[in-house]
Amino acid sequence: MRVDLHIHTQPRSACSAITPVDLIREAGRLGLDAVCLTEHQNRWNAQAIEELAGETRIRIFQGNEITTNQGDILVFGYPEEVKGVVAIQDLRRAVSGAGGLMIAAHPFRGFLPFGITQLQMKVEQACQRSVFQYVAGVEILNCKVTDPENEMARQVAERLGLLGVAGSDAHRIDEIGRCVTIFQKEIRNEQELLAELRAGRFRTELRN
Ligand SMILES: [Zn+2]
Ligand SMILES: [Zn+2]
Repeated sequence: MRVDLHIHTQPRSACSAITPVDLIREAGRLGLDAVCLTEHQNRWNAQAIEELAGETRIRIFQGNEITTNQGDILVFGYPEEVKGVVAIQDLRRAVSGAGGLMIAAHPFRGFLPFGITQLQMKVEQACQRSVFQYVAGVEILNCKVTDPENEMARQVAERLGLLGVAGSDAHRIDEIGRCVTIFQKEIRNEQELLAELRAGRFRTELRN
């Protein structure tokens, strides 16, 4: 099952140019099976999601992208709205209490204006970033960062034994579905999404 786990729509994410209706249409054209709405500190209510889903065969899940003192965190299975910048320890406590899951979004965005050779030297050091103590996984494919930045995230996830997921972080229509997480099983709801993420029963793919 092909899922884009990281998508912003307007007006809930002011920085996005994608309308919800266009998202569903484009996801259908691309053959995605599901999309996950991850607005910036802003949640959809269940009724709005149901209305958007309408008759479409595309499943619509919801996460949240929360700004912390350790960078952006994608949160799944945590139904509260979080505003402003929060301490990652506090977020972790709340999300764990609710049975949710935290993923470090684009953990090296803007970190690596260097070449690939420097990158090789820095994996060990990159693993020391404290954000990785608080998350179950890392975004290893995100279309808003450079290839070396994605590669660093992949190597860190591998070395630390964290989940490695893909999500486009789409803010424009042509970015939808660029990075997808392909799950082995069909996923019908957010509880199943959480379970399959936790179990690591997925692989990632980048569309060129
Ligand atoms: Zn972000
Ligand atoms: Zn994002």
